[in-house]
Amino acid sequence: MPITPFHFGPGALLTSVAPAHVSWTAFALSNALIDLEPIVLYFVTGDPAHPWLHTPPGALAVAAVAALLGRKPCEAFLRWWNSRLSPGQVPWLSAGPAITAGAAWTGALLGTSSHILLDGFMHGDVRPFWPLHEGNPIQGLVALDWLHGSCVFAGLLGVAILTLRRRQA
Ligand SMILES: [Zn+2]
Repeated sequence: MPITPFHFGPGALLTSVAPAHVSWTAFALSNALIDLEPIVLYFVTGDPAHPWLHTPPGALAVAAVAALLGRKPCEAFLRWWNSRLSPGQVPWLSAGPAITAGAAWTGALLGTSSHILLDGFMHGDVRPFWPLHEGNPIQGLVALDWLHGSCVFAGLLGVAILTLRRRQA
């Protein structure tokens, strides 16, 4: 799933559980970074393969890059986002502009680990348990419609929970 918005749905749900401790922007950034792998390979070899980054060690490396190098750009994005909002939108759509290191790491790690699991259901060349397990034992376990549907559902549920939290704040 090269940077499809479907990956962001589970991110919204995970963030809604503990907004101060899980950065959705770090989650989204790590998902975008990990999919540079099939995109670059597509342009270089013609095959959008997932050989290295779509493994647990690769996912860890991408999460580290997103958490360590991506935190400041994510904060800059949030400041830009907040600056674009009208006064009426601020109570609902503004985001706290500071991302703690812990929230960046948690968001990025959840981002890449959920990413290789979700991609693992779809793509045979993803190795979601390497080096413990070569190959991909989960491909096809979840039907594509179910996979996409549950990502959308997770996103809607996450947004609903975040909205409820705002109302109570
Ligand atoms: Zn992917």
